Amino acid sequence: MSERVIPLVDQRLRALPALLPSHAIAANGLLSDGLGRPLHDLRISVTDKCNFRCNYCMPKEVFNKDYAYLPHSDLLSFEEITRLARVFVAHGVQKIRLTGGEPLLRKNLEILVAQLAELRTPEGLPLDLTLTTNGSLLARKAHILKDAGLNRVTVSLDGLDDAVFRQMNDVDFPVASVLEGIEAAKAAGLGLDAQGRWSGLKINMVVKRSTNVDQILPMARHFRGSGMTLRFIEYMDVGATNGWCMDEVLPSADVIRHIQQEFALVPLEPNSTGETAQRWGYANAHGEFDPNLGEVGVISSVTQAFCSDCNRARLSTEGKLYLCLFASQGWDLRELMRDKQGSDADLASAIGHIWQGRTDRYSELRALLPAEQQAAQGRRVEMSYIGG
Ligand code: SAM
Ligand code: SF4
Ligand code: SF4
Repeated sequence: MSERVIPLVDQRLRALPALLPSHAIAANGLLSDGLGRPLHDLRISVTDKCNFRCNYCMPKEVFNKDYAYLPHSDLLSFEEITRLARVFVAHGVQKIRLTGGEPLLRKNLEILVAQLAELRTPEGLPLDLTLTTNGSLLARKAHILKDAGLNRVTVSLDGLDDAVFRQMNDVDFPVASVLEGIEAAKAAGLGLDAQGRWSGLKINMVVKRSTNVDQILPMARHFRGSGMTLRFIEYMDVGATNGWCMDEVLPSADVIRHIQQEFALVPLEPNSTGETAQRWGYANAHGEFDPNLGEVGVISSVTQAFCSDCNRARLSTEGKLYLCLFASQGWDLRELMRDKQGSDADLASAIGHIWQGRTDRYSELRALLPAEQQAAQGRRVEMSYIGG
């Protein structure tokens, strides 16, 4: 059995000051990092709390009643988030994803959504504004979020069998309530793409070899032809508390083989550069993609690194900027904004400087290591803190 590693140091404290470069960097929408990657996508964590305890993300043994979540005063306010988001958008960000923890636990989230929906890119276009949720509160919130300006949602769902699902969320939450939330989101119209066209909701399923492999086919059957896209995510070694080991990872290639036992699939072209999922379309009797049957996606973060196109920055709940999901430290933008009273131009300079210095490519480098060294490379922040 693999040993669980509990971090001895609170990773959230490990942040560098966001320094101003000697020459100001103005936001002109054309920022690129040390490996030539643009800044396109910003993920904003709005809370570090969650009502689930998925053991691959917030295991109960660690995130128990004694766990010290951030005090409310440490969280960025909606105004602070919107101010930072405006600077990121001026630098080239076109897509914002709200995440957490469970983002729908943040009170009055629709107010933030409405503020972000007002932002425009340097070309005058609205943002692709989306949110990832466990779906538990979606039935109640879907219409309010849509009215506030949210384009679409991604719902995480790790199985259809109630017993398996309750085991995965580890708080005995019934799958029927999440399915109700998904239907509510569909009815509210939360499935628009960046161009405002209907693209359907996305459903994310993390696959752990010991727990939910038998859910792959039932999930594929359920969502095939539903207008929703099911995506399978390889179980990743994010954070330091989930006791990750390679044996638990089911490679995406195996997921596709599994589905092909029952349904014919054909590979599809990516929709955009930096797209994390590889797309496969359900085929008709002639072996051609049938859009009515839809598609599935696989996110092969472990077996096929996609760092070379990674255009994502992550803003933690308390305003620290992370450049990689596997980073061990971030840059403190809140301090620059709140304590040092930095101007928007200062924020733009600091963010520009940080992004220009970015060379992260953790998954690519890990793939070069021998198998026995691929787990537990140093200390990392938790996914529930910087968001997925
Ligand atoms: N609570 C929300 C949810 O579950 O959708 C949003 C936050 S959650 C951290 C974002 C995504 O990260 C979810 O789709 C979740 O399944 C995924 N995730 C969390 N830990 C993971 C891990 N160890 N490997 C792969 N995906 C993970
Ligand atoms: Fe909560 Fe999402 Fe993490 Fe599950 S994956 S514990 S729902 S934050
Ligand atoms: Fe991006 Fe880091 Fe993931 Fe590579 S490992 S794709 S750089 S987040």
